[in-house]
Amino acid sequence: MTDAVLATKGISKSFGALQASLDISIDLRPGEIHALIGPNGAGKSTLIQQIAGGMKPDAGQIFLNGQDITALGTAARAKRGLARTFQISALAMEDTVLQNAVLGALGAQGRPFQVFGTALGKADLRATAEQALDRVGLMDHAKTRTSELSHGQRRQLEVAVALTLNPKAFVMDEPMAGLGTRGSKRLTGFLDSLREQAPILLVEHDMDAVFTLADRISVLVYGQIIATGTVDDIRANADVRRAYLGD
Ligand code: ADP
Ligand code: MG
Repeated sequence: MTDAVLATKGISKSFGALQASLDISIDLRPGEIHALIGPNGAGKSTLIQQIAGGMKPDAGQIFLNGQDITALGTAARAKRGLARTFQISALAMEDTVLQNAVLGALGAQGRPFQVFGTALGKADLRATAEQALDRVGLMDHAKTRTSELSHGQRRQLEVAVALTLNPKAFVMDEPMAGLGTRGSKRLTGFLDSLREQAPILLVEHDMDAVFTLADRISVLVYGQIIATGTVDDIRANADVRRAYLGD
């Protein structure tokens, strides 16, 4: 665990009688894409929310670069470089693509409008924002109103916003959802290039994407990790095939 960028140790969470996470220990290593798969209701989103800070675990700890971040809220975790992406609702739809990226560079989602009115004029923030947009291929749309972007482009913008935070680790909950085949292919290629910047904990149903991208896969069933391994390990695992891959 010492060289893990992100790790959970014995995370548990229940909703009444329902055990949504049971003693989950999972880690994310430098440069890797670690996919988290499992049937609907297995507890994937619940785990991601606990990692990102939106939900408190009943027990267990979360570490970012070896530091215990369990007590920190979402914003404090983001400041430390834990980037949760693809929360499309977090984008300001009436603002331009560049304004959204600058807002990210400010590191202050949710600040009053006038704050980033001024921030737009600040050369360093603007440069950071433009670099991030360039990286995701949205620089041509810098002046476009965010509401006019396609679904796929909004996801790219979410990544650009995350990039301005100088992320140490990404957590993503079903980024391919709602994208067509072409959009998924493009995002797959993009995520592949993103892992150099920071490793990705990726919840994804699209098995083509998972098998293409993942260095390791963990399988969650009824709140428990039943297996962790390489793509080949997981494909060959009889328990996993029975529980999830449809054998
Ligand atoms: P997944 O993302 O793997 O589909 P979730 O983490 O969304 O699964 O849900 C895991 C289980 O926890 C499900 O049975 C779901 O109904 C339940 N659950 C999720 N969030 C809540 C909540 N806030 N309150 C009560 N039950 C919840
Ligand atoms: Mg989910």
